[in-house]
Amino acid sequence: MPCARYHNRMEAPPLPPARERVGPIDAILTRHYPEAACALTHANPLQLLIATILSAQCTDARVNLVTPALFARFRTAQDFATCDITELQQLVKSTGFYKNKAKHIRACCVILVETFGGEVPPSLDDLVVLPGVGRKTANVVLGNCFDIPGITVDTHVGRLSRRLGLTRHEDPVKVELELMELVPQPEWTAFSHRLILHGRAICFARKPRCEACPVAALCPKVGVATKAKPKAKPKSRQKRNADDTDATD
Ligand code: SF4
Repeated sequence: MPCARYHNRMEAPPLPPARERVGPIDAILTRHYPEAACALTHANPLQLLIATILSAQCTDARVNLVTPALFARFRTAQDFATCDITELQQLVKSTGFYKNKAKHIRACCVILVETFGGEVPPSLDDLVVLPGVGRKTANVVLGNCFDIPGITVDTHVGRLSRRLGLTRHEDPVKVELELMELVPQPEWTAFSHRLILHGRAICFARKPRCEACPVAALCPKVGVATKAKPKAKPKSRQKRNADDTDATD
């Protein structure tokens, strides 16, 4: 029998804590996005590292338009390390912030050549000291190229984690650490991909489609604006008179 308190007020009972919801949420998302994977086209760790640097403030689709020509022109870390910076800038220009990105890519590859024999190191600590590489980029590379699980906190993962009540943090590193506590380690990389796909398909930044969302029953929708009530139309003179009559009767 439903609790009278909630039944009478027609309110849903409170949701279980995040630790109890995250498993069922992930199971539902797994069914909806069975092929969840990295959307950046790449053939090796170096290509994914560079594609991920380019994806900052840019869509994966745009990066995927740029990288075929880029990776045809420069194949190794040595190629990038010794490239003409102006040529590199032109090749990545349409991804935005291209001067900074080109600078980071070349500087990054200089370190790869000088310190790591031209290879991308399979270590978070080694990756995050490379120019233009933060924990997000490092976790993308580790999870997708080296099978080292990592939570990738991009704009979608951050937003969805807060709406789903899995974290209250805005800082991506704090979100990552909190999700690492909640999600089983083997699922870290795939869970990130599923949240990203769900953010692109349904839980949009501006207007999430909660009515079509498969995890709606498990989501507190933190920070999601509910529909404003339509403004009452001004009463017509005839209706006002009728109301007045009712009031005096
Ligand atoms: S119910 Fe709404 S806010 Fe929650 S995950 Fe689904 S779309 Fe996003």
